[in-house]
Amino acid sequence: MADPRVNGRAAAEVDAVVVGAGPAGSAAAWALARAGKSVVLLERGPFPGSKNLYGGVVYGRILDEIVPRWWEEVPVQRWVVRRSTMVMTATQALTVDFRTQAWGRPPYNGMTVYRADFDRWLAGKAVEAGATLVTSTVATGLLRDEAGRIAGVRTDRPDGDLRARIVIACDGVNSFLAKEARLLPRTNPEHLTLGVKEVLALPREVIDERFGLRGDEGLDIEILGCTGDIPGGGFLYTNGDTVSVGVVLSLAHLGKAGKRPEEVIAGLKAHPAIAPYLRGATLKEYGAHLIPEGGYNHMPALYTDGMLVAGDAAGMCLAAGIWLEGVNFAIGSGLAAGRAAAKALDAGDLSASGLSVYQRELEKGFVLANHERLRGAPDLVLSERVQRRYPGLVADLVEGMFTVTDPKPKPGLLALLRRAARRNDVKLRHLLADGLRGGRVFR
Ligand SMILES: Cc1cc2nc3c(=O)[nH]c(=O)nc-3n(C[C@H](O)[C@H](O)[C@H](O)COP(=O)(O)OP(=O)(O)OC[C@H]3O[C@@H](n4cnc5c(N)ncnc54)[C@H](O)[C@@H]3O)c2cc1C
Repeated sequence: MADPRVNGRAAAEVDAVVVGAGPAGSAAAWALARAGKSVVLLERGPFPGSKNLYGGVVYGRILDEIVPRWWEEVPVQRWVVRRSTMVMTATQALTVDFRTQAWGRPPYNGMTVYRADFDRWLAGKAVEAGATLVTSTVATGLLRDEAGRIAGVRTDRPDGDLRARIVIACDGVNSFLAKEARLLPRTNPEHLTLGVKEVLALPREVIDERFGLRGDEGLDIEILGCTGDIPGGGFLYTNGDTVSVGVVLSLAHLGKAGKRPEEVIAGLKAHPAIAPYLRGATLKEYGAHLIPEGGYNHMPALYTDGMLVAGDAAGMCLAAGIWLEGVNFAIGSGLAAGRAAAKALDAGDLSASGLSVYQRELEKGFVLANHERLRGAPDLVLSERVQRRYPGLVADLVEGMFTVTDPKPKPGLLALLRRAARRNDVKLRHLLADGLRGGRVFR
Protein backbone atom coordinates (compact mmCIF):
# COMPACT_ATOMS: atom_id res chain seq x y z
CA MET A 1 0.00 0.00 0.00
CA ALA A 2 1.03 3.65 -0.42
CA ASP A 3 1.30 4.03 3.34
CA PRO A 4 3.44 1.05 4.22
CA ARG A 5 4.33 1.95 7.80
CA VAL A 6 1.90 1.93 10.67
CA ASN A 7 3.06 2.85 14.15
CA GLY A 8 6.62 2.23 12.91
CA ARG A 9 5.86 -1.26 11.69
CA ALA A 10 5.32 -2.50 8.17
CA ALA A 11 1.63 -2.38 7.26
CA ALA A 12 1.91 -6.07 6.47
CA GLU A 13 2.05 -6.68 10.19
CA VAL A 14 -0.82 -4.56 11.54
CA ASP A 15 -2.88 -5.96 14.35
CA ALA A 16 -6.19 -4.83 12.88
CA VAL A 17 -7.75 -3.32 9.82
CA VAL A 18 -11.08 -1.55 10.26
CA VAL A 19 -13.01 -1.09 7.03
CA GLY A 20 -15.18 2.03 6.82
CA ALA A 21 -14.55 5.30 8.67
CA GLY A 22 -18.19 5.89 9.60
CA PRO A 23 -19.11 6.20 13.29
CA ALA A 24 -18.72 2.44 13.88
CA GLY A 25 -15.32 2.19 12.21
CA SER A 26 -13.83 5.26 13.86
CA ALA A 27 -15.01 4.09 17.29
CA ALA A 28 -13.54 0.61 16.72
CA ALA A 29 -10.24 2.06 15.50
CA TRP A 30 -10.14 4.44 18.47
CA ALA A 31 -10.65 1.59 20.97
CA LEU A 32 -7.96 -0.54 19.34
CA ALA A 33 -5.46 2.32 19.16
CA ARG A 34 -6.15 3.22 22.79
CA ALA A 35 -5.37 -0.37 23.72
CA GLY A 36 -1.97 0.07 22.04
CA LYS A 37 -2.73 -1.95 18.91
CA SER A 38 -1.59 -1.04 15.42
CA VAL A 39 -4.69 -0.33 13.37
CA VAL A 40 -5.46 0.89 9.87
CA LEU A 41 -8.81 2.57 9.28
CA LEU A 42 -9.76 2.28 5.60
CA GLU A 43 -12.24 4.63 3.98
CA ARG A 44 -13.35 4.57 0.37
CA GLY A 45 -14.28 8.28 0.28
CA PRO A 46 -11.73 11.10 0.05
CA PHE A 47 -12.45 11.82 3.73
CA PRO A 48 -14.66 10.22 6.42
CA GLY A 49 -18.28 11.32 5.97
CA SER A 50 -17.81 12.31 2.33
CA LYS A 51 -19.99 9.40 1.20
CA ASN A 52 -22.68 10.10 3.75
CA LEU A 53 -25.88 12.06 3.47
CA TYR A 54 -25.67 15.61 4.77
CA GLY A 55 -26.71 15.12 8.37
CA GLY A 56 -28.74 13.56 11.12
CA VAL A 57 -29.66 13.76 14.76
CA VAL A 58 -26.90 12.31 16.89
CA TYR A 59 -27.32 11.42 20.55
CA GLY A 60 -24.05 12.14 22.25
CA ARG A 61 -24.00 10.24 25.54
CA ILE A 62 -21.87 7.41 24.10
CA LEU A 63 -19.26 10.00 23.10
CA ASP A 64 -18.52 10.56 26.82
CA GLU A 65 -16.42 7.38 26.60
CA ILE A 66 -14.26 8.77 23.81
CA VAL A 67 -13.97 12.51 24.45
CA PRO A 68 -14.80 13.92 27.88
CA ARG A 69 -16.67 17.23 27.38
CA TRP A 70 -17.01 16.44 23.67
CA TRP A 71 -19.64 19.15 23.35
CA GLU A 72 -16.92 21.77 23.59
CA GLU A 73 -15.42 20.65 20.27
CA VAL A 74 -17.93 18.55 18.33
CA PRO A 75 -18.97 20.18 15.01
CA VAL A 76 -22.61 20.70 15.97
CA GLN A 77 -25.32 22.39 13.91
CA ARG A 78 -27.92 22.78 16.67
CA TRP A 79 -28.70 21.26 20.07
CA VAL A 80 -32.12 19.61 19.98
CA VAL A 81 -34.30 21.19 22.69
CA ARG A 82 -37.66 20.46 21.02
CA ARG A 83 -38.68 16.95 20.07
CA SER A 84 -42.04 16.62 18.38
CA THR A 85 -43.94 13.53 17.32
CA MET A 86 -46.50 14.17 14.60
CA VAL A 87 -49.28 11.87 13.42
CA MET A 88 -50.80 12.92 10.12
CA THR A 89 -53.37 12.10 7.50
CA ALA A 90 -53.74 13.92 4.19
CA THR A 91 -55.71 16.72 5.86
CA GLN A 92 -54.96 16.45 9.59
CA ALA A 93 -51.97 16.58 11.90
CA LEU A 94 -51.64 15.96 15.62
CA THR A 95 -48.37 16.96 17.24
CA VAL A 96 -47.05 16.08 20.66
CA ASP A 97 -44.45 18.75 21.18
CA PHE A 98 -41.91 18.41 23.96
CA ARG A 99 -39.42 21.08 24.87
CA THR A 100 -36.82 21.20 27.61
CA GLN A 101 -34.06 23.66 28.30
CA ALA A 102 -32.09 20.85 30.00
CA TRP A 103 -31.18 19.46 26.56
CA GLY A 104 -29.77 22.84 25.56
CA ARG A 105 -26.93 22.82 28.05
CA PRO A 106 -24.13 20.39 29.01
CA PRO A 107 -24.08 17.42 28.97
CA TYR A 108 -26.76 17.83 26.21
CA ASN A 109 -29.00 15.07 24.80
CA GLY A 110 -29.09 15.23 21.01
CA MET A 111 -27.67 17.45 18.29
CA THR A 112 -28.04 17.89 14.59
CA VAL A 113 -24.78 17.52 12.71
CA TYR A 114 -23.51 17.39 9.17
CA ARG A 115 -22.07 13.94 8.77
CA ALA A 116 -19.18 15.22 6.66
CA ASP A 117 -18.09 17.28 9.69
CA PHE A 118 -19.02 14.78 12.39
CA ASP A 119 -17.49 11.68 10.79
CA ARG A 120 -14.30 13.58 10.02
CA TRP A 121 -14.11 14.78 13.62
CA LEU A 122 -14.64 11.30 15.06
CA ALA A 123 -12.11 9.72 12.69
CA GLY A 124 -9.69 12.44 13.85
CA LYS A 125 -10.07 11.10 17.41
CA ALA A 126 -9.06 7.63 16.22
CA VAL A 127 -6.04 9.15 14.46
CA GLU A 128 -5.11 11.16 17.59
CA ALA A 129 -5.22 7.89 19.53
CA GLY A 130 -2.76 6.34 17.07
CA ALA A 131 -4.81 4.77 14.26
CA THR A 132 -3.69 5.26 10.66
CA LEU A 133 -6.44 6.57 8.41
CA VAL A 134 -6.14 5.61 4.75
CA THR A 135 -8.73 7.32 2.53
CA SER A 136 -9.80 6.98 -1.12
CA THR A 137 -9.26 3.25 -0.78
CA VAL A 138 -11.92 0.57 -1.21
CA ALA A 139 -11.59 -2.78 0.53
CA THR A 140 -12.48 -5.06 -2.36
CA GLY A 141 -12.42 -8.40 -0.57
CA LEU A 142 -10.99 -10.52 2.19
CA LEU A 143 -7.45 -11.81 2.18
CA ARG A 144 -6.97 -15.38 3.40
CA ASP A 145 -3.88 -17.27 4.51
CA GLU A 146 -2.82 -20.69 3.23
CA ALA A 147 -5.14 -22.35 5.73
CA GLY A 148 -8.10 -20.28 4.46
CA ARG A 149 -8.28 -18.05 7.55
CA ILE A 150 -9.11 -14.36 7.17
CA ALA A 151 -5.78 -12.53 7.17
CA GLY A 152 -6.58 -8.98 6.05
CA VAL A 153 -8.22 -7.25 3.10
CA ARG A 154 -7.59 -6.64 -0.57
CA THR A 155 -7.99 -3.07 -1.76
CA ASP A 156 -8.42 -1.28 -5.08
CA ARG A 157 -4.87 0.04 -4.92
CA PRO A 158 -2.37 -1.64 -7.23
CA ASP A 159 -0.25 -2.74 -4.25
CA GLY A 160 -3.32 -3.13 -2.16
CA ASP A 161 -3.12 -6.25 0.01
CA LEU A 162 -3.28 -5.23 3.65
CA ARG A 163 -2.42 -8.05 6.02
CA ALA A 164 -3.92 -7.85 9.50
CA ARG A 165 -4.45 -10.27 12.36
CA ILE A 166 -8.08 -9.23 12.60
CA VAL A 167 -10.55 -7.49 10.28
CA ILE A 168 -13.44 -5.39 11.62
CA ALA A 169 -16.10 -4.76 8.98
CA CYS A 170 -17.79 -1.39 9.53
CA ASP A 171 -18.60 -0.89 5.88
CA GLY A 172 -22.25 -0.06 6.43
CA VAL A 173 -25.57 -1.65 5.49
CA ASN A 174 -25.11 -4.20 2.71
CA SER A 175 -21.54 -4.95 3.91
CA PHE A 176 -19.76 -6.82 1.13
CA LEU A 177 -17.10 -8.03 3.55
CA ALA A 178 -19.65 -9.51 5.95
CA LYS A 179 -21.34 -11.19 2.99
CA GLU A 180 -18.07 -12.59 1.73
CA ALA A 181 -17.38 -14.00 5.21
CA ARG A 182 -20.88 -15.55 5.11
CA LEU A 183 -21.93 -13.59 8.20
CA LEU A 184 -24.53 -11.48 6.42
CA PRO A 185 -27.07 -13.32 4.29
CA ARG A 186 -28.18 -12.08 0.89
CA THR A 187 -29.98 -8.73 0.98
CA ASN A 188 -33.58 -9.15 2.10
CA PRO A 189 -35.76 -6.12 1.24
CA GLU A 190 -38.16 -7.08 4.06
CA HIS A 191 -35.62 -5.91 6.60
CA LEU A 192 -34.43 -2.78 4.85
CA THR A 193 -35.88 0.66 4.44
CA LEU A 194 -34.81 3.35 2.04
CA GLY A 195 -34.07 6.66 3.74
CA VAL A 196 -34.45 9.60 1.38
CA LYS A 197 -33.72 13.10 2.43
CA GLU A 198 -33.59 16.63 1.12
CA VAL A 199 -31.51 19.36 2.69
CA LEU A 200 -33.12 22.75 2.13
CA ALA A 201 -31.45 26.11 2.67
CA LEU A 202 -33.19 28.84 4.68
CA PRO A 203 -31.67 31.86 6.43
CA ARG A 204 -30.85 31.12 10.06
CA GLU A 205 -33.18 33.87 11.37
CA VAL A 206 -36.06 32.43 9.33
CA ILE A 207 -35.46 28.98 10.83
CA ASP A 208 -35.34 30.47 14.33
CA GLU A 209 -38.58 32.33 13.82
CA ARG A 210 -40.56 29.56 12.10
CA PHE A 211 -39.52 26.79 14.45
CA GLY A 212 -39.59 28.85 17.66
CA LEU A 213 -35.86 28.58 18.33
CA ARG A 214 -33.13 30.87 19.62
CA GLY A 215 -29.35 30.77 19.23
CA ASP A 216 -28.15 27.22 18.74
CA GLU A 217 -31.42 25.54 19.76
CA GLY A 218 -32.81 22.89 17.39
CA LEU A 219 -36.03 20.98 16.69
CA ASP A 220 -36.55 17.41 15.55
CA ILE A 221 -40.01 16.35 14.30
CA GLU A 222 -40.65 12.62 13.71
CA ILE A 223 -43.75 11.85 11.66
CA LEU A 224 -46.10 8.87 11.27
CA GLY A 225 -48.70 8.64 8.53
CA CYS A 226 -46.91 10.62 5.84
CA THR A 227 -45.88 7.82 3.52
CA GLY A 228 -49.23 6.83 2.00
CA ASP A 229 -49.44 3.17 1.03
CA ILE A 230 -45.79 2.51 1.76
CA PRO A 231 -44.98 1.65 5.38
CA GLY A 232 -42.43 4.03 6.88
CA GLY A 233 -42.22 7.44 8.47
CA GLY A 234 -40.93 10.94 8.01
CA PHE A 235 -38.77 13.54 9.69
CA LEU A 236 -38.00 17.23 9.65
CA TYR A 237 -35.24 18.79 11.66
CA THR A 238 -33.26 21.98 11.83
CA ASN A 239 -29.58 22.57 11.14
CA GLY A 240 -27.80 25.95 11.29
CA ASP A 241 -29.02 27.44 8.03
CA THR A 242 -30.66 24.40 6.46
CA VAL A 243 -33.47 22.04 7.37
CA SER A 244 -33.54 18.33 6.58
CA VAL A 245 -36.80 16.76 5.49
CA GLY A 246 -37.23 13.17 4.45
CA VAL A 247 -38.94 9.83 4.62
CA VAL A 248 -37.99 6.30 5.44
CA LEU A 249 -39.75 3.76 3.20
CA SER A 250 -40.10 -0.01 3.43
CA LEU A 251 -38.01 -1.29 0.55
CA ALA A 252 -40.21 -4.33 -0.05
CA HIS A 253 -43.32 -2.13 -0.43
CA LEU A 254 -41.65 0.70 -2.34
CA GLY A 255 -41.05 -1.57 -5.31
CA LYS A 256 -44.71 -2.64 -5.43
CA ALA A 257 -46.14 0.86 -4.87
CA GLY A 258 -45.00 2.17 -8.25
CA LYS A 259 -44.14 5.50 -6.64
CA ARG A 260 -40.84 7.33 -6.62
CA PRO A 261 -39.42 8.41 -3.22
CA GLU A 262 -39.26 12.04 -4.45
CA GLU A 263 -43.05 11.96 -4.87
CA VAL A 264 -43.49 10.82 -1.26
CA ILE A 265 -41.24 13.62 0.01
CA ALA A 266 -43.05 16.12 -2.25
CA GLY A 267 -46.35 15.02 -0.64
CA LEU A 268 -44.89 15.51 2.84
CA LYS A 269 -43.48 18.94 1.95
CA ALA A 270 -46.84 20.05 0.57
CA HIS A 271 -48.80 18.95 3.67
CA PRO A 272 -50.49 21.93 5.35
CA ALA A 273 -48.69 21.15 8.64
CA ILE A 274 -45.26 21.15 6.97
CA ALA A 275 -45.45 23.52 3.99
CA PRO A 276 -45.37 26.77 6.04
CA TYR A 277 -42.06 25.71 7.61
CA LEU A 278 -40.44 25.29 4.21
CA ARG A 279 -41.77 28.26 2.24
CA GLY A 280 -39.03 29.81 0.07
CA ALA A 281 -36.45 27.14 0.91
CA THR A 282 -34.03 26.07 -1.81
CA LEU A 283 -32.78 22.53 -2.40
CA LYS A 284 -29.12 21.99 -1.46
CA GLU A 285 -28.84 18.21 -1.49
CA TYR A 286 -30.93 15.15 -2.22
CA GLY A 287 -29.80 11.66 -1.33
CA ALA A 288 -30.98 8.16 -0.58
CA HIS A 289 -29.42 5.39 1.47
CA LEU A 290 -30.52 2.02 2.82
CA ILE A 291 -31.19 1.52 6.53
CA PRO A 292 -31.16 -1.90 8.26
CA GLU A 293 -34.43 -1.92 10.20
CA GLY A 294 -34.89 -5.62 10.93
CA GLY A 295 -33.64 -5.24 14.49
CA TYR A 296 -32.55 -8.00 16.83
CA ASN A 297 -34.42 -10.84 15.13
CA HIS A 298 -32.60 -10.27 11.85
CA MET A 299 -29.07 -9.42 12.92
CA PRO A 300 -26.33 -11.38 11.19
CA ALA A 301 -23.80 -13.50 13.04
CA LEU A 302 -21.46 -10.95 14.60
CA TYR A 303 -18.10 -12.72 14.41
CA THR A 304 -16.20 -15.50 12.73
CA ASP A 305 -12.56 -16.60 12.75
CA GLY A 306 -10.48 -13.44 12.30
CA MET A 307 -13.36 -11.02 11.80
CA LEU A 308 -15.98 -8.91 13.60
CA VAL A 309 -18.86 -6.86 12.20
CA ALA A 310 -20.22 -3.63 13.73
CA GLY A 311 -22.65 -0.78 13.07
CA ASP A 312 -25.08 -0.92 10.16
CA ALA A 313 -23.05 -3.79 8.71
CA ALA A 314 -24.29 -5.80 11.70
CA GLY A 315 -27.87 -4.44 11.49
CA MET A 316 -27.35 -2.40 14.67
CA CYS A 317 -29.51 0.56 13.66
CA LEU A 318 -32.44 0.90 16.08
CA ALA A 319 -35.70 1.66 14.30
CA ALA A 320 -38.46 1.46 16.85
CA GLY A 321 -41.11 4.00 15.93
CA ILE A 322 -40.36 6.98 18.07
CA TRP A 323 -36.63 6.20 17.80
CA LEU A 324 -34.45 6.08 14.73
CA GLU A 325 -30.96 5.89 16.13
CA GLY A 326 -28.12 4.55 14.06
CA VAL A 327 -25.11 6.67 14.86
CA ASN A 328 -24.97 6.11 18.62
CA PHE A 329 -25.59 2.39 18.11
CA ALA A 330 -22.82 2.32 15.50
CA ILE A 331 -20.43 4.03 17.93
CA GLY A 332 -21.47 1.72 20.78
CA SER A 333 -20.99 -1.43 18.72
CA GLY A 334 -17.74 -0.10 17.20
CA LEU A 335 -16.32 0.49 20.68
CA ALA A 336 -17.37 -3.00 21.75
CA ALA A 337 -15.76 -4.50 18.63
CA GLY A 338 -12.53 -2.58 19.14
CA ARG A 339 -12.31 -3.58 22.80
CA ALA A 340 -13.15 -7.21 22.05
CA ALA A 341 -10.55 -7.33 19.27
CA ALA A 342 -7.89 -5.87 21.60
CA LYS A 343 -8.71 -8.52 24.23
CA ALA A 344 -8.59 -11.32 21.68
CA LEU A 345 -5.24 -10.01 20.35
CA ASP A 346 -3.87 -9.98 23.92
CA ALA A 347 -5.12 -13.50 24.48
CA GLY A 348 -3.64 -14.60 21.16
CA ASP A 349 -6.92 -16.24 20.19
CA LEU A 350 -8.56 -14.78 17.10
CA SER A 351 -10.73 -17.79 16.44
CA ALA A 352 -14.50 -17.43 16.53
CA SER A 353 -14.44 -18.75 20.06
CA GLY A 354 -11.80 -16.19 21.13
CA LEU A 355 -13.82 -13.44 19.47
CA SER A 356 -17.06 -14.38 21.21
CA VAL A 357 -15.93 -11.86 23.81
CA TYR A 358 -17.49 -9.33 21.38
CA GLN A 359 -20.96 -10.67 22.12
CA ARG A 360 -20.29 -10.22 25.84
CA GLU A 361 -18.97 -6.67 25.31
CA LEU A 362 -22.14 -5.84 23.39
CA GLU A 363 -24.38 -7.36 26.03
CA LYS A 364 -22.67 -5.30 28.74
CA GLY A 365 -23.75 -2.06 27.06
CA PHE A 366 -26.88 -0.49 25.64
CA VAL A 367 -26.60 -1.82 22.09
CA LEU A 368 -27.84 -5.38 22.44
CA ALA A 369 -29.88 -4.62 25.56
CA ASN A 370 -32.02 -2.13 23.61
CA HIS A 371 -32.21 -4.22 20.48
CA GLU A 372 -33.24 -7.29 22.44
CA ARG A 373 -35.83 -5.46 24.52
CA LEU A 374 -37.33 -3.77 21.45
CA ARG A 375 -37.10 -6.81 19.17
CA GLY A 376 -40.85 -6.71 18.45
CA ALA A 377 -40.90 -3.02 17.54
CA PRO A 378 -40.03 -3.09 13.81
CA ASP A 379 -42.88 -5.51 13.00
CA LEU A 380 -45.38 -3.60 15.13
CA VAL A 381 -44.40 -0.16 13.84
CA LEU A 382 -44.47 -1.22 10.20
CA SER A 383 -47.72 -3.20 10.59
CA GLU A 384 -50.70 -2.34 8.42
CA ARG A 385 -52.89 -0.98 11.21
CA VAL A 386 -50.21 1.18 12.83
CA GLN A 387 -49.20 2.58 9.47
CA ARG A 388 -52.47 3.08 7.63
CA ARG A 389 -55.32 3.14 10.12
CA TYR A 390 -54.17 4.42 13.48
CA PRO A 391 -52.98 7.84 12.27
CA GLY A 392 -56.51 8.49 10.94
CA LEU A 393 -58.12 7.05 14.05
CA VAL A 394 -56.07 9.23 16.40
CA ALA A 395 -56.57 12.35 14.27
CA ASP A 396 -60.35 11.76 13.97
CA LEU A 397 -60.64 11.14 17.71
CA VAL A 398 -58.84 14.39 18.53
CA GLU A 399 -60.77 16.29 15.86
CA GLY A 400 -63.99 15.01 17.48
CA MET A 401 -62.82 16.05 20.94
CA PHE A 402 -62.00 19.58 19.83
CA THR A 403 -65.01 20.11 17.55
CA VAL A 404 -67.71 22.02 19.41
CA THR A 405 -71.12 20.59 18.56
CA ASP A 406 -73.49 23.22 20.07
CA PRO A 407 -76.43 23.22 20.08
CA LYS A 408 -76.08 19.41 20.13
CA PRO A 409 -74.79 18.00 23.45
CA LYS A 410 -71.12 17.00 23.54
CA PRO A 411 -70.47 13.36 22.61
CA GLY A 412 -68.71 11.13 25.17
CA LEU A 413 -65.16 9.96 24.64
CA LEU A 414 -66.17 6.34 24.03
CA ALA A 415 -68.66 7.39 21.36
CA LEU A 416 -65.95 9.46 19.68
CA LEU A 417 -63.54 6.55 19.84
CA ARG A 418 -66.13 4.19 18.33
CA ARG A 419 -66.85 6.66 15.55
CA ALA A 420 -63.16 7.20 14.77
CA ALA A 421 -62.56 3.45 14.81
CA ARG A 422 -65.49 2.86 12.43
CA ARG A 423 -64.34 5.56 10.04
CA ASN A 424 -60.86 4.08 9.89
CA ASP A 425 -62.00 0.49 9.70
CA VAL A 426 -60.49 -0.49 13.05
CA LYS A 427 -62.14 -3.01 15.37
CA LEU A 428 -61.91 -2.03 19.03
CA ARG A 429 -60.68 -5.52 19.91
CA HIS A 430 -57.79 -5.05 17.47
CA LEU A 431 -57.03 -1.69 19.01
CA LEU A 432 -56.95 -3.30 22.43
CA ALA A 433 -54.79 -6.18 21.19
CA ASP A 434 -52.33 -3.78 19.54
CA GLY A 435 -52.31 -1.65 22.68
CA LEU A 436 -51.35 -4.69 24.75
CA ARG A 437 -48.78 -5.72 22.16
CA GLY A 438 -47.33 -2.18 22.19
CA GLY A 439 -47.24 -2.32 25.98
CA ARG A 440 -45.24 -5.55 25.83
CA VAL A 441 -42.85 -4.29 23.10
CA PHE A 442 -42.11 -0.95 24.78
CA ARG A 443 -42.41 -2.15 28.40
C1 LIG B 1 -31.84 9.21 5.41
C2 LIG B 1 -31.23 8.67 6.68
C3 LIG B 1 -31.43 9.35 7.86
C4 LIG B 1 -30.86 8.88 9.03
N1 LIG B 1 -31.04 9.61 10.15
C5 LIG B 1 -30.41 9.23 11.28
C6 LIG B 1 -30.48 10.05 12.43
O1 LIG B 1 -31.09 11.12 12.41
N2 LIG B 1 -29.84 9.64 13.55
C7 LIG B 1 -29.12 8.47 13.59
O2 LIG B 1 -28.53 8.15 14.63
N3 LIG B 1 -29.03 7.67 12.51
C8 LIG B 1 -29.66 8.02 11.36
N4 LIG B 1 -29.56 7.23 10.25
C9 LIG B 1 -28.82 5.94 10.35
C10 LIG B 1 -27.31 6.17 10.35
O3 LIG B 1 -26.95 6.92 9.22
C11 LIG B 1 -26.55 4.83 10.34
O4 LIG B 1 -27.11 3.94 11.28
C12 LIG B 1 -25.08 5.05 10.68
O5 LIG B 1 -24.48 5.91 9.76
C13 LIG B 1 -24.31 3.72 10.71
O6 LIG B 1 -22.94 3.96 10.91
P1 LIG B 1 -21.85 2.94 10.34
O7 LIG B 1 -20.52 3.48 10.74
O8 LIG B 1 -22.20 1.56 10.73
O9 LIG B 1 -22.03 2.97 8.76
P2 LIG B 1 -21.89 4.21 7.72
O10 LIG B 1 -22.19 5.51 8.38
O11 LIG B 1 -22.71 3.79 6.57
O12 LIG B 1 -20.37 4.18 7.37
C14 LIG B 1 -19.79 3.19 6.56
C15 LIG B 1 -18.50 3.76 6.01
O13 LIG B 1 -17.82 2.73 5.32
C16 LIG B 1 -17.32 3.24 4.09
N5 LIG B 1 -17.19 2.06 3.22
C17 LIG B 1 -18.20 1.28 2.77
N6 LIG B 1 -17.71 0.25 2.06
C18 LIG B 1 -16.36 0.41 2.06
C19 LIG B 1 -15.30 -0.35 1.50
N7 LIG B 1 -15.52 -1.47 0.81
N8 LIG B 1 -14.04 0.09 1.69
C20 LIG B 1 -13.79 1.23 2.39
N9 LIG B 1 -14.76 1.97 2.95
C21 LIG B 1 -16.02 1.55 2.80
C22 LIG B 1 -18.36 4.27 3.67
O14 LIG B 1 -17.85 5.21 2.75
C23 LIG B 1 -18.73 4.89 5.01
O15 LIG B 1 -17.90 5.97 5.35
C24 LIG B 1 -30.11 7.67 9.05
C25 LIG B 1 -29.90 6.98 7.86
C26 LIG B 1 -30.44 7.48 6.68
C27 LIG B 1 -30.18 6.73 5.40
